[in-house]
Amino acid sequence: MDINELAERLLAGDRRALARAITLVESGRDDHRAQALELMELVQHSGRQALRLGLSGTPGVGKSTFIESFGMMLIEQGLKVAVLAVDPSSARSGGSILGDKTRMELLTREKNAFIRPSPSQTNLGGVARRTREATQLCEAAGYDVVLIETVGVGQSETVVAQMSDVFLLLLAPAGGDELQGVKRGIMEMADLILVNKADGDLKAAAQRTRADYAGALHLLRRRPQDPEGFPKAATVSAIESAGLSEAWAEMQSLVQWRKEHGHYDQTRADQAQYWFAQDIRNGLLGQLDREPLKTAITDFAQQVGRGELTASRAAEQVLAALTASGTSK
Ligand code: GDP
Repeated sequence: MDINELAERLLAGDRRALARAITLVESGRDDHRAQALELMELVQHSGRQALRLGLSGTPGVGKSTFIESFGMMLIEQGLKVAVLAVDPSSARSGGSILGDKTRMELLTREKNAFIRPSPSQTNLGGVARRTREATQLCEAAGYDVVLIETVGVGQSETVVAQMSDVFLLLLAPAGGDELQGVKRGIMEMADLILVNKADGDLKAAAQRTRADYAGALHLLRRRPQDPEGFPKAATVSAIESAGLSEAWAEMQSLVQWRKEHGHYDQTRADQAQYWFAQDIRNGLLGQLDREPLKTAITDFAQQVGRGELTASRAAEQVLAALTASGTSK
């Protein structure tokens, strides 16, 4: 299909066009990449802005249950919801975290919901770029909310936080009074901590956990882009759909405040610059795995191993070759 036509259909909200467009940005082929870049430029000024919601939490905490009930709530309010995922481990485990058909059964059937599994790539940089582009495509296709899910592995939280307007951290009620080993860095990324499973026997524990995290968040310095009281901690029950509309109201008021104070656009601009820098780095790293450099590096490594070349000299020669290959294109 012609790229202009694909862009037109996507902007008209055609789901199949959106799915095709995402397949295109996920492709590793050079000719597809050229088309994808063109497509991204064509949809860049759609004038549409979705709320990009990042969601992180360890397996079992209730992410898919939350996305299902929260997504259904948004759809009942007349909103269109897209769900994407950053899962660098999906290729290794042989299946995507969103590939399991039993997840989000209700949402899957909704015409105003669009669910896309994580691309099967092990390279986090690649997954990040594809998810970021997929987010922009969903936005251009008229989705109001794009939920970007990740399991808490490696750097994937940072990746998701850098592509979302609001970052949610889902936690489970802690047993006893020990806080879960949530790293400070992750706490600092969260705009809203949601302690899930606040129902039945777990309700009291969830409330205690919420209070503990509220206390911990209070100790973190307030960020300039945040109003008083943020980041916050709240309880929800994804299963009972409890606390979801309150959590949604918190997200909306946070976004409203940031928009009024210029932080929303500024953050998006900062994120675009961050990804620009990341793409350059990832592109350079990618070249090391490609011919002709790949073979040259193997040869140099053997020479270094045999003591025929110093490591520094060999590295310098590879870097010189990298520059030469870049300018000769
Ligand atoms: P994920 O791995 O983070 O996506 O977690 P799931 O959504 O698959 O949920 C893991 C388990 O927790 C499942 O058995 C769910 O039924 C359960 N669960 C999820 N949300 C809730 C909740 O709000 N309350 C209770 N009691 N259980 C929940």
